[in-house]
Amino acid sequence: MEQQSGFYSDLLYLLSVAGAEDAYKILTFLIPIGLAWYIYRKVKSKRDLQNQALFLAAKEAGLGDPPVSLHPVIDQNSCLGCATCVDACPEGNVIGVIREKAQLINPSHCIGHGACKSVCPTGAITLVLGNEKRGIDIPLLNSNFETNVPGLFIAGELGGMGLIRNAIEQGRQAMESVRTLIGGMSSNVPYDVVIIGAGPAGFSASLCAHQHELRYVTLEQEDLGGTVAHFPRGKIVMTAPVQLPIIGQVKFSETTKEALIEFWRKAEQRSGVKINYQDRMDTIDKTDDGFIVKTATAEYHTKALLLAIGRRGTPRKLGVTGEDQTKVVYRLADPAQYRNQHVLVVGGGNSALEAAISISEEPGTTVTLSYRSNAFAKANPKNVEKINAAAEAGRLNLQLKSTVKQIDEKHVTLNLEHGELKMKNDGVIVCAGGILPTPMLKTLGVEIETKHGTL
Ligand SMILES: Cc1cc2nc3c(=O)[nH]c(=O)nc-3n(C[C@H](O)[C@H](O)[C@H](O)COP(=O)(O)OP(=O)(O)OC[C@H]3O[C@@H](n4cnc5c(N)ncnc54)[C@H](O)[C@@H]3O)c2cc1C
Repeated sequence: MEQQSGFYSDLLYLLSVAGAEDAYKILTFLIPIGLAWYIYRKVKSKRDLQNQALFLAAKEAGLGDPPVSLHPVIDQNSCLGCATCVDACPEGNVIGVIREKAQLINPSHCIGHGACKSVCPTGAITLVLGNEKRGIDIPLLNSNFETNVPGLFIAGELGGMGLIRNAIEQGRQAMESVRTLIGGMSSNVPYDVVIIGAGPAGFSASLCAHQHELRYVTLEQEDLGGTVAHFPRGKIVMTAPVQLPIIGQVKFSETTKEALIEFWRKAEQRSGVKINYQDRMDTIDKTDDGFIVKTATAEYHTKALLLAIGRRGTPRKLGVTGEDQTKVVYRLADPAQYRNQHVLVVGGGNSALEAAISISEEPGTTVTLSYRSNAFAKANPKNVEKINAAAEAGRLNLQLKSTVKQIDEKHVTLNLEHGELKMKNDGVIVCAGGILPTPMLKTLGVEIETKHGTL
């Protein structure tokens, strides 16, 4: 303040001693600068308020904590508030400047691109895994992507490194390491390598195995693309040019989810790589000469194993009659596909509530939400509020303390506290969480480290 009044008094003194012509020149020089400075401050403080509002909204929705996946931590002492990181983030609105300091204003939208870290002029940003409240289990890998269990390799997000480009690159490199390892091993075992998962990491590894004529099999519990296939419709995918085995340099940097999956689908056809879809690895046993991988229908004896199963896990099933029908899914892809239909959503977490809300907003739908408890203790208050409002408005049928008894072609039956309820049904969405891979890794003897905000 003192400095400012000194500046103004100096200016007034300068204008009083200057002749009229000089004073005019000084003012024509200073007025545009002052105006530009005023506009800049106004825009900045407006943005500051918007960022604060976004941060508060995320907090209120229970999404204020940093994600457990790779995310930036910003050292407030070294941050200049220059907003270079804000502009560099490909997801937009993840970082914002509040009171001259950058911070995560929409943490749950961070997917770990790391562009913020690369552009920060003062090195104030570090990338970490896990947070103070929730740790993330990361298997320990050597530089060849091999775990402490010989012959067991891990690539992609399961190893802690997210992003499509990294997963593709790791899948290729891990398979090159598998190739080197199996070169000197016994040949009585029928498979050189079993690859589990056909997301970006597993797909790239499969292409590499195919290129080198290894005896391989790839098992995928769902379809090609992994997590990418579950991105919201039309999501813009940010990636970087990468080398895909057999196919060569892929130059995508910004594309849509649909275009990327279509490209991979064509690459699959062109290369002749073979992937067993809808084939889930159930168990892995270690043997003296490798591993035995079991699925519901087959058993594979292999020298080496590459786990490229990401971190989403395997969707938990209900285990009821009729669950094997195609109308039963474990994730909502597109609410519009349920227009004019009778739909049952099962679960009490955020994904169940969000699925039920979005379907209930589609014209002509009759939505029932079934949950085994009597309250939604695991969901965000905002989602619970929306569910209750939809139920009160008659847009949704809420069945608490209920479980699914049976799923028929045109109906579904719920067990209620007192009796049963048989309803018309065209589709069932089960959001009962996932079975995570960590316990299986521990059983196999893989060393795991839990990260709480470190890399
Ligand atoms: C909302 C969202 C947006 C994102 N946006 C971007 C983006 O714009 N750019 C970017 O680079 N990254 C993005 N990512 C991150 C990116 O999707 C992941 O880092 C990447 O998909 C990891 O690849 P992966 O192959 O390791 O695992 P995944 O893609 O998860 O694939 C794992 C595969 O293994 C299969 N599998 C699991 N268990 C079994 C089993 N028991 N048997 C058989 N198969 C099994 C799964 O079905 C799945 O297909 C985003 C992530 C999310 C959640």
